[in-house]
Amino acid sequence: MINRDLAREVKSLMPSRERDTDRNSPVSMWNEMDRLRGTPEETTVVILRTRGCSWYDFSSCSMCGYFNDVNTNISVDNLKVQIDRAYDFMERTRILKIFTSGSFLDQREVPEEAFNYFMKKMSDKVEKLLVESRTEYVTDKIMKKVKSYGVDTRIAIGVESSNDYVIKNMVNKGTTFSKFINAAKILKNNKMELRSYLLLKPPYMSEEGGVQDAIQSVKDCAPYSDDISVNPMNIQKNTLVEKLWKKGEYRPPWLWSVVRVLLETQNVKSDVISYPTGGDRERGAHNDDRNQEVVKLIFNASLNQDFRDLEDYYNRADKRKYMAHLKNEECLPIQYDLDSFIRKISAGSVKI
Ligand code: SF4
Repeated sequence: MINRDLAREVKSLMPSRERDTDRNSPVSMWNEMDRLRGTPEETTVVILRTRGCSWYDFSSCSMCGYFNDVNTNISVDNLKVQIDRAYDFMERTRILKIFTSGSFLDQREVPEEAFNYFMKKMSDKVEKLLVESRTEYVTDKIMKKVKSYGVDTRIAIGVESSNDYVIKNMVNKGTTFSKFINAAKILKNNKMELRSYLLLKPPYMSEEGGVQDAIQSVKDCAPYSDDISVNPMNIQKNTLVEKLWKKGEYRPPWLWSVVRVLLETQNVKSDVISYPTGGDRERGAHNDDRNQEVVKLIFNASLNQDFRDLEDYYNRADKRKYMAHLKNEECLPIQYDLDSFIRKISAGSVKI
């Protein structure tokens, strides 16, 4: 389940989690569109500042830089103040996605007193709630407790891939696909909804490999999920992925790859969405020519579950550079950021 060399390498890049940040302020709060009730609606997103994911005590996922936002000295009282601020921030909306830098259901991160305070307070305002969790905190007992507050809740789980080799040797997730299935069954038994997160193009994987892994993972997760969010890699600070990217050994996926995954999986049983973080930017999914239009079309298709405009745009676009990239990668012994490599050759910093 764990590749210890990879776990050690990821851990060695993590900065100290002792911070002097404001313990009473959430990391961030904003409104955005999502479709948690089957139609596009304005949704509030709050990232609570916590002590962080319990997995950080051992290592971290290879792409996860949320540890940059944690504070190990957060108390229950600090969390209560943050919850009050989140409550006040929700002026226009009744749908809330609450993120932490880990798992909202992990009692080491959100102690029971703070969890109860949150659920009680939000139950008079929130009509639909989404919280994130690793699989190990999705237990029958905790689900019954969440349900007891009467808030319609969807649990989001980072599966990343349905392939255990990828989970272990590329993502360093410290879990398995069968654990995800187990958690999904617990949710189903409790009549609770599930959003599955998949990672498009983990490190050490080619572009085409990433597309095929994501398509297969969508198909494998669909029977268990209400919706599946395909998250193309975005490069976060102090992560293994950032280290590889800086060396030119990793390129975030092309937006065309995101489009291919969405178009190929239109007919699965659950909704498939993608809201690319940092889309069309250097650290996020991008094509060779920078163009926000494809990002907008991906968002709209995801929100409306109508992929016709996206498909039409994709079919008409000039994708020769993308196709050449896929072909060239097949000839390389390792996955490489070809654009960056060529730039370095032109600048004379790499001799061939
Ligand atoms: S489980 Fe989630 S929060 Fe924890 S290290 Fe992985 S991606 Fe980050």
